Amino acid sequence: MSLAWCWRDDWITGYDSAYGLFAKFARLNSMGARELASLFVNRQRGSVTSILHAPKIDLRSSEFFDLTIFAKHLRLDQKAIQQAFLIDQLPNRGRHSCNVLRWCPRCAHRGFHSAVFQLDLISACPIHNLLLRAKCPKCRRQIPYQLSQEIFDHPFCCPWCENDLAPELRRIRPQVLTLKSEETTWIENLVSLLIFEDEMVSIRLEINRARKQLGIGEFAVAHADWRRLESEYIGFVKQVVDIMQTELNTSQQSLELGALSFSVKRPHGGGQPLPKKTYRRKATHAIEMDKQNSAHVKMSWDQKLRGSYDVYNGVRRYLWRHVVHQHHRCIARAVKHLWWNMDGESTCSFCPIAEAFIRWRIHWELCGTPQYLFSPMRKDPLGLVAWMASGAPICPVGWTIEAERWVSDNLLGSHCFGSFWEFFEIALKNSKRNRVDWDKHAYSGRYTSYWAIAGSDTLKSPVRIYKQVHTPNEIEDELRNLGSDRHHFMTHLSQLSKIVR
Ligand SMILES: [Zn+2]
Ligand SMILES: [Zn+2]
Ligand SMILES: [Zn+2]
Repeated sequence: MSLAWCWRDDWITGYDSAYGLFAKFARLNSMGARELASLFVNRQRGSVTSILHAPKIDLRSSEFFDLTIFAKHLRLDQKAIQQAFLIDQLPNRGRHSCNVLRWCPRCAHRGFHSAVFQLDLISACPIHNLLLRAKCPKCRRQIPYQLSQEIFDHPFCCPWCENDLAPELRRIRPQVLTLKSEETTWIENLVSLLIFEDEMVSIRLEINRARKQLGIGEFAVAHADWRRLESEYIGFVKQVVDIMQTELNTSQQSLELGALSFSVKRPHGGGQPLPKKTYRRKATHAIEMDKQNSAHVKMSWDQKLRGSYDVYNGVRRYLWRHVVHQHHRCIARAVKHLWWNMDGESTCSFCPIAEAFIRWRIHWELCGTPQYLFSPMRKDPLGLVAWMASGAPICPVGWTIEAERWVSDNLLGSHCFGSFWEFFEIALKNSKRNRVDWDKHAYSGRYTSYWAIAGSDTLKSPVRIYKQVHTPNEIEDELRNLGSDRHHFMTHLSQLSKIVR
C-alpha cells in the first residue's frame, strides 16, 4: 500500500535541519514520532523493532534513517539532505555538537531550524544576529534534540511546559520562513566555512605527523570565525598549508611568503616587548589612565592573566597617548555623563572616537558602565579572560611556557589593536545614522588577522607566527581626519545632553 503524504515545496528552504523538516512534515500530516519513525527509519538496520516501538533517535546523524525515503517524501536533493544532518556534513566537528535543541527565536517562530545551530561555537543566528537559545524561556528546561514521542507530540514546542516556539506553524495558512538571497548567502558562507575547517582537521593531522617525524615541530592554526567571510579564512589556511608542505619536502624554511607575514621568536631569547615609543609626559585632560589603585583585584591573578593584562594595558596606553589623544576631553565628558550600565541601550551618537574607545574598553574589561572604566578596577577584565579561554592559541605539545607566552602575547596585541579599529568603524556608521546600540556582541574581529604557528623552539626550527599582511588601514586616515576643534566638542556635548537615563 502506498500512501500519499502531504508536503509543500515552499516550506523547504534547502537549509532546514532534520528537526525542522520533521516538525513541518509532522504538522502537515498530523503525525507523531512513532509514525515518523515507521516511515523514515531504515529497516535494514538491526534492532529496528525497538526503535519503532519507542523511538529516541539523535537527529544530528542520519545513521538510522533511510535517505532514499527521505529524499522521496520530502523531495530533497542530495545537498539539502546533507544540510539536514550535522554529523554527515561535518564528520569531525559535528561530534562535538550539542544534543539539546539550540534555536534562533525569530527563525523558530516561522518554523526554521538549521543543523549548524547545534554547534556550540555558533552563538548567534547568522540571519537575524540574535543569540541562540538552548533553554525554554518559560520553564528554563532544555529540549533534547531527538526524534522521540514527547518531543514530536508538539514539535517546535517545549515538551515540558508546551511553550510554543513556532506559533506561525500552528496557523491555518502559515507564513513559513523563506530565505532572501542575502540570507542564503550568509548560511552558505557559514556552512562552507565549517565544511572547509572540518576537512582541514585530517589534513593538519597528516602534515603534523610528517613534521614530527622530521623533528621540525607541529603547526597549529586559528579556528575559522563564523562571522567572517569564508574566502578570508580559506585563502589564509591554504597559504599556510603550502608553506608547511614545502618545508616537508625541503626540510628547510620556505621564504616565499606572498601575502603572509611572520615573526620569529629567537630561541631562549626572551619575549618581544611591544613597540615602545617615547611618551610625552604631559598632563592630559581630566583622567590619567591606570593611576588608580587596583591592587586588591590584581592580587588574585595568576601569572598568565597578569602577563595578558600587561599586553592589553600597553595597547590601551598606546591608543590613549597616540591614537585618541586629541579627543581626551570628549572621552572624559562621555564617561562622566554615562553613569549607568549601557548594555542593551540605544542612544543617539556622539564623538565617534570617544564611542570607539569606550566600547573597546567595555569589550575587553566587560564593564558595562562607562563611568566605572576610569575608577579603580572592581572586577577582573572578563573580556580578556574570555579571550584567553577561547581566542588564545593552543600551542602544539612540547612547547616551552615561554614560547607559549610569546605567541599568546603577540596575538593578543594584534587582537587588541584590531578590535579597536572595528569599534571605530562601527562608531563611524553610528555617527552617520545618529544611533548607538550598546550591544556587547557587535564585535566580529574583522580587523584581526587569522594566525598560524609552527616550529619547535629550537635553533633549527624556531617558533614562528604567521599572519596575513596588514593592508593599509584606510580607517586610520579617517580617524586622523576627524576634527577635534571647539565646534566638534560643542556638538559632542549637545549630543551627550540628549542621552538621559
Ligand atoms: Zn534567525
Ligand atoms: Zn518550557
Ligand atoms: Zn572627539
